Amino acid sequence: MITELRAALGTDRARAETLELALYARDAGVASGHAAAVCFPHDGHEVAEAVRIAARHDRPFVARGSGTGLAGGATPIGDPLVIVTTQLNRILEIDGDARVAWVEPGVLNLDLSRAVAHLGLHYAPDPSSQQACTIGGNVATNAGGPHCLASGVTATHVLAVEVVLADGSITMLGGLEPDQPGYDLRGCFVGSEGTMGIAIRIAVRLTPNPPAVRTLLLDFDAIEDAGATVSGIIAAGIVPAALEMQITKENAGRLQCKILAEGANGPTTVEADAILQDKGVFVIPDVLANAGGVVVSYFEWVQDLQNFFWTEDEVNQKLRDILIRAFHQVLYMSQKEKVHMRLAALMIGIERVARAMLWRGLYA
Ligand SMILES: Cc1cc2nc3c(=O)[nH]c(=O)nc-3n(C[C@H](O)[C@H](O)[C@H](O)COP(=O)(O)OP(=O)(O)OC[C@H]3O[C@@H](n4cnc5c(N)ncnc54)[C@H](O)[C@@H]3O)c2cc1C
Repeated sequence: MITELRAALGTDRARAETLELALYARDAGVASGHAAAVCFPHDGHEVAEAVRIAARHDRPFVARGSGTGLAGGATPIGDPLVIVTTQLNRILEIDGDARVAWVEPGVLNLDLSRAVAHLGLHYAPDPSSQQACTIGGNVATNAGGPHCLASGVTATHVLAVEVVLADGSITMLGGLEPDQPGYDLRGCFVGSEGTMGIAIRIAVRLTPNPPAVRTLLLDFDAIEDAGATVSGIIAAGIVPAALEMQITKENAGRLQCKILAEGANGPTTVEADAILQDKGVFVIPDVLANAGGVVVSYFEWVQDLQNFFWTEDEVNQKLRDILIRAFHQVLYMSQKEKVHMRLAALMIGIERVARAMLWRGLYA
């Protein structure tokens, strides 16, 4: 297979070296697999050719964008050919009047919004990974983001997808006309995680930028009051562009607590963090206080690999041990280096990565 791929794409764009296979063995999730080969087509015809070569050799194939997926969709299971779409990264056409853009799947989400900003338009789905993830990956995962409450997830913004099917043939699903006859196969494809084929060209809807943006900062005594206010705003027919709860420089000074445990990701702005330190609030940073879910996910992975069957009590006990140990290590670093807990946690993280690289090498 690799010989045929190299003949079709060139040696540089068809790889089966140990390093490349290791790099493409997983996405941003925890599961890992093993690829037979990895290839980097430049256009849709090369994608189709790669799929046909895989079929001739009776190999499965897996599409991969930037690999930021957290669900293992791009993880190669069963020694497949991994077909990476990042070199199909051209914005093919922008029609500002019709508010439609045709893009290749490897275009990064944020790059499209940047490219149409001068027209007063943007591409609305905004996963938090939008600087890194591809529109092909967004289509396959039906990605959402903070603004999708108001504007809908990816499926709402995809008009047509040109797809390479498993036999290497190319077909168009959906179209620019509003009322396509027949089954909505475009709708089936969006969110199908690459199981129906590989997107090679996508027509997406562009959204006008709002005429004005106003940010409101509201202060609540109880979370329930904040929730009720959000429900009230939406019930009144106003859908907010995005919502988040945060400790900011405006409200940090009013906090009366002596200890603050961050039970969410990034709940404190940098300016608020400085105010909390000045006030002498002992902050248990999110990376420590909010780590339980990630640790238990890791347990699940270990259990799967090792065929362990831990009871809930055992899981809780292990979690408790790990978190208590981690807390003491961060506290020790904080006192030893006379830094606050967030910086101490970061220092421990960097130190561990550095140590792992010294022991195992960069890519091990
Ligand atoms: C820090 C971080 C924040 C994130 N925030 C969000 C968020 O707010 N909302 C959200 O929904 N997700 C989020 N994600 C998850 C992830 O970024 C999205 O799922 C994204 O859409 C994946 O895009 P990708 O290019 O990295 O695709 P990959 O991870 O490479 O692939 C994802 C899936 O798409 C398939 N695929 C890729 N390209 C194609 C193609 N051309 N044709 C057919 N199938 C294809 C793959 O086979 C796989 O099944 C986040 C991830 C991270 C790491």
